[in-house]
Amino acid sequence: MPELPEVETVRRALERHATGRTIESVRGREVQLRRPLDIRRLRRRLPGHRLNGFRRRAKFLLVDLDPSGTLLVHLGMSGRLLLCDPASPLLPHSHLVLGLGPRLDLRFVDPRRFGLVSWLAPGDEAIDPSLSMLGLEPLDERAPFELPPLLHARRAPLKALLLDQRLVAGVGNIYAAEALWRAGIRPSRPGHRTALPRLERLVDEVRAVLSEAIEQGGTTIRDFSSPQGNFGDFAVRLQAYGHGGEPCPRCGRAMIDDRLAGRSTVWCRRCQH
Ligand code: ZN
Repeated sequence: MPELPEVETVRRALERHATGRTIESVRGREVQLRRPLDIRRLRRRLPGHRLNGFRRRAKFLLVDLDPSGTLLVHLGMSGRLLLCDPASPLLPHSHLVLGLGPRLDLRFVDPRRFGLVSWLAPGDEAIDPSLSMLGLEPLDERAPFELPPLLHARRAPLKALLLDQRLVAGVGNIYAAEALWRAGIRPSRPGHRTALPRLERLVDEVRAVLSEAIEQGGTTIRDFSSPQGNFGDFAVRLQAYGHGGEPCPRCGRAMIDDRLAGRSTVWCRRCQH
């Protein structure tokens, strides 16, 4: 599943390769994604609009259109955005093709259909149900100050709190587990039972692991490719996620693979408490 660093990687690639392009054509058909893909509406709204800028909010991409409107994109479980030559063959599950001139297509491919592409009218961003519930952006400069007290005020396990989108937006299972391991904090430790300096350290580690992954272009994850169509060949060195049963890189004791809040959680009983 594309995580925040992958989405940020896609955003940066689109910014580099597609800013200033004009949408000339819209092809696709009505399919049921996370929200129904409304091709007729997109055909009415998009042609002639210029891609003015690319923003990210949690794992949503927001494409600012000139003169007006915003295209909201979520990659869901298996979504990809491909920038490619219009002559290149259409992959299965290519639900939407935006023609950006004679030499460039932007294609949305999503086999599992948990993604979304939706047009937002000016002003709708503030009231969109998916966007308006989102909490603090972990890489926002306010997060180191504002997030630790918010975690401290809650009784739930820290792992669950890190995954709660209303509290902190866009941190997935992989990065929550990794940050807890780095900070030496047990995933099941309740927020209110954790001293503030330890929570500050945890937030720092969340930010560090996300930033490292972004620098390396996102972790390599099945079903993800960068917009140019290259499968990610980069990987942040994850010490916890995916290493259940293996020796802890810090103390050598076998890491445990637990389930917490319905999600797999790898942690070290010796150095996380
Ligand atoms: Zn350990």
